[in-house]
Amino acid sequence: MFADRLARARARMADDGVDVLLLSVGADLPYFCGYEAMPLERLTMLVVPRDGHATLVVPHLEAPRVVERPDVFDLATWRDGEDPIALVVDRLPAGPGGTVRAAIGDQAWAGFAVDLLAARPDLALTRASEVTAPIRMVKDAAEVEALRAAAAAVDRILADVQTGAVPLAGRTEADVAARIGRQILDEGHHRINFVIVASGPNAASPHHEPGDRVIRSGESVLFDIGGTMFGADGVGYCSDITRCVHLGEPPAEFAEAYEALHAAQAAGVAAATVGTPCEDVDAASRRVLDDAGYGEWFVHRLGHGIGVEAHEHPNLVAGNDLPLAPGHAFSVEPGIYVPDRWGMRLEDIVVATTEGPDPLNRIDHGLAVIDA
Ligand code: ZN
Ligand code: ZN
Ligand code: ZN
Repeated sequence: MFADRLARARARMADDGVDVLLLSVGADLPYFCGYEAMPLERLTMLVVPRDGHATLVVPHLEAPRVVERPDVFDLATWRDGEDPIALVVDRLPAGPGGTVRAAIGDQAWAGFAVDLLAARPDLALTRASEVTAPIRMVKDAAEVEALRAAAAAVDRILADVQTGAVPLAGRTEADVAARIGRQILDEGHHRINFVIVASGPNAASPHHEPGDRVIRSGESVLFDIGGTMFGADGVGYCSDITRCVHLGEPPAEFAEAYEALHAAQAAGVAAATVGTPCEDVDAASRRVLDDAGYGEWFVHRLGHGIGVEAHEHPNLVAGNDLPLAPGHAFSVEPGIYVPDRWGMRLEDIVVATTEGPDPLNRIDHGLAVIDA
């Protein structure tokens, strides 16, 4: 699998005139070689010449974590006190015309990019995502099933919240978030990526950090949760879902806004057909909120791609004219945020297929009203 993925990367490198791919911290590395670098200060870097075998440069003390795959990469370790940049530089190919075009991981530490440029002034850096994103965006059947399993896990957690099985009133956001974090792991994820629990006016901040605010009867609570579930090959796939509940009957103003939100989310999913440009999916959902008078409070893009990373390409956003292709996986998550008052968002992960949009999250889309 990894050899196939690297072969696809090399084909794109040939098309784009990239001489070498340099992958470090970030999701490209596990996707292409099955190893995830610790996001620390020591250099880990997969050096992939367009023509030639790849080398994984890793700190000696982290080498025991590496599953060796000789068909994919050779291993080169370095000890504290040695210069890891030299190990990378020694493996750079000679570029045509005296310039080596290197695509470096978008999330590689900038410090290493600076060191590489100092050691090899003939290096011209571009973003690795220009090579890797088009490959990672298109999920194969096994990847879609991994995303589906992760989605089913968070579905079970928020379905419990919707039925009122999770005590909310009188507890702090942080308490509820801690419980949900444990459930994310109990349901089969290996990593918690985020747990947003936003009560009352706190939900007006789309990325609210759960705090010591006590959840009270008569208000709404927004839950946006996700984690990473690792498969046998060491590569993880992410979940991401948002639902809202209301403790007691919602005020008419809130219920009406939620109806528009639900319609906007459904319109976004319905528009997510193969061949439709990403920006048109965003527009289809946004139009519903614009027409209902909530447009100015929908302050972010409709959605983001998802896979090995919780947020990856393609983005459903104005300006992205990329047509959806079979295997594209992305969120559809319109929101309405009224500063200092309330906020709401509704999010599913959807896969584009030739048979139409396939939503991976299946639990109820309505505003769950909980006795409180
Ligand atoms: Zn989310
Ligand atoms: Zn999301
Ligand atoms: Zn619905």
